[in-house]
Amino acid sequence: MNTLEKTDHYILNTYPRQQTVFVKGQGATLWDDRGNAYTDFLAGIAVTGLGHCHPGVVRAMAEQAEKLIHVSNLYYTEPQAELAELLVQKSFADKVFFANSGAEANEAAIKLARRYFREKNDTGRFKIITMDKSFHGRTMATLSATGQEKIKQGFSPLVDGFDHVRFNDIQALKSRMDGSVCAVMLEPVQGEGGVVPADPDYLKQVRQLCSEEGCLLIFDEVQTGMGRCGELFAHEHYGVVPDIMTLAKALGNGLPIGAMLASDDAATGFAMGSHGTTFGGTPFVAAAALEVVKTVSDPSFLTAVREKADYFAHRLNGLKERHSSVRQVRGVGLLLGLELDAKQPDIVLECMKKGFIINLIQDKIIRFAPPLVITKEEIDGLVKALDALL
Ligand code: PLP
Repeated sequence: MNTLEKTDHYILNTYPRQQTVFVKGQGATLWDDRGNAYTDFLAGIAVTGLGHCHPGVVRAMAEQAEKLIHVSNLYYTEPQAELAELLVQKSFADKVFFANSGAEANEAAIKLARRYFREKNDTGRFKIITMDKSFHGRTMATLSATGQEKIKQGFSPLVDGFDHVRFNDIQALKSRMDGSVCAVMLEPVQGEGGVVPADPDYLKQVRQLCSEEGCLLIFDEVQTGMGRCGELFAHEHYGVVPDIMTLAKALGNGLPIGAMLASDDAATGFAMGSHGTTFGGTPFVAAAALEVVKTVSDPSFLTAVREKADYFAHRLNGLKERHSSVRQVRGVGLLLGLELDAKQPDIVLECMKKGFIINLIQDKIIRFAPPLVITKEEIDGLVKALDALL
């Protein structure tokens, strides 16, 4: 059996895979096993922000792998402490909990929000309001939090205590707000839901409402964080600060790591033994993530992301002007979406044939989440290919 056959035979068939075997990556380029090169406009779904096999991250991994890969969270390790300190210095937060994925980071946030009120002897506050079309993960609690019916099918009974309201609609949120709500949880830019940014006023009003009602505000920045949107965290664009934020995806540039960041006050929800995981913040992944945070948080790096993002959006808007099949271009930073007026199931494969990797969500929205090191020339190449295909 070849790799495709073995994969389809031995691995549970839960992913709609392209018939391609990748063997190598460097920067924004991937190579398949037939030697074909592709420019990657997906970055492992917003994961390899610094590009494939980034030399600094590879060096940090290699050096740490020779020293110490894993002990346990029953002990202290230097990379974990350094990473936590840097994340706190670069964010609103005071405390960090390390997990292994976005779903796990969100699971931690959900648990923290509930337990925060139990610590205060407020047993009535347990409900978490999330948004229609949101995506928070595939564990039982995070899929219950997710506002998309299709990913919940077949898994009932779901975890109790989640409510969903229309995104960008403050009245909808107000109408469901009561003394049973412990938190509101949302993505500043909905990723899986179709690359839909929060309206600036809306996010400010959500913050105000949560403060007035005495519940916590959780930002899921699993997809939008780590420079993806042109600031280290997307919420910085909005000037709105949450109580809890979750990160994953690009934090490890490909190594599995998630993090939940909390203010000192919100963090009081967890006490000794409240939560834990074997691999969370293991020295190997923490060393890689430390290199990622140092690199991405450099102001000149973020300025370059914003410049390229503006250029990319401008070029995509040019496509919209030329092709009536393009309905809308939207997004923030290098998380961009191009909505088509009809389903285009073949566009991903057609783009691959031209040497570009893109991603289609909701059948007709092309999501672009390239490595943040993408060049203007690479953007030009993709736009030319899309121009021909559209
Ligand atoms: N939250 C958001 C906003 C995401 O985009 C994702 C994944 O796409 C997740 C959570 C889940 O992350 P993971 O797949 O690492 O569990």
